Amino acid sequence: MASNNFLKKYEKAIYIFIAFLFVSNFFAWQEVFHLCENNNLKVSFLNVGQGDSAFIVTPQNHQILIDGGPDSTVVGKIAKQMPFWDRSLDLIILSHPEKDHMQGLLDILKRYKADYIVWSGIKKQDAEYLEWLKVLVKQKNSGAKIITAEQGQEIKVGDLVIDILNPKENLFGRDAGASSNDTSVIAKLVYGKNSFLFTGDIDAKAEEDLCKASPYTSLKSDVLKVAHHGSKFSSSDIFLQAVSPKFAVIEVGKNTFGHPTPEAISRLQNSGAQIFRTDQSCDIVFNSDGQNLFLSK
Ligand SMILES: [Zn+2]
Repeated sequence: MASNNFLKKYEKAIYIFIAFLFVSNFFAWQEVFHLCENNNLKVSFLNVGQGDSAFIVTPQNHQILIDGGPDSTVVGKIAKQMPFWDRSLDLIILSHPEKDHMQGLLDILKRYKADYIVWSGIKKQDAEYLEWLKVLVKQKNSGAKIITAEQGQEIKVGDLVIDILNPKENLFGRDAGASSNDTSVIAKLVYGKNSFLFTGDIDAKAEEDLCKASPYTSLKSDVLKVAHHGSKFSSSDIFLQAVSPKFAVIEVGKNTFGHPTPEAISRLQNSGAQIFRTDQSCDIVFNSDGQNLFLSK
């Protein structure tokens, strides 16, 4: 009798609870089916203003973030592409510790756990850098593996291979001096027949060094993330000839440096690449099935 009364009293609450379980289960399955649907590699060059950030989801649903842009814009962009329950990223790459590449990563790493963090290890003398070190320590204590990038390393993420082409040597603890641009981690993502080259902010000198050091075909890529936001001191003819990109993506926003410069644009046009700019096209999204590239903007 007592248990009947109890049931009656809480009947409504129990039904609401069961309904809640059903609805949350539905959303969970919807997410799972959604994730299973896409067997393509998805590379999104995010419009984060004047800075770099690219989010990559592999066919096996590994999530990779290369740079985070100059502020927390990246947080909202990533949230739109990730299931709401997922609080971890598989791999984070910081090209170099300058604010327009690093600040957004600080915001991301305060919210998400990373399995692997790859960076150059170069030392700087500013507040953001100290913040970066603190975040690294916290991530390491939560189980993240911190890796110092160096030419010749190969990272396998499911079917995706990431070749590290720069820095030429281990720079851990070395002082960056006035600029860390040329120490940028250069990563080439290869999925089947398609490839993407991430160049950070390297200038023409580093580009030429790379051309000399690398076998000719190793730089060739379908998509080039144009170095240093279209600076006139980057995107040299010799480098563009070696990369021979079909698509060139300039990550750029409002700035006082004149990026992207007419000089860089002209050289990119001469290379035959189709040029996209995040300040004009917002996020620029490529899908690849390993054979063909699809631009889905
Ligand atoms: Zn930059």
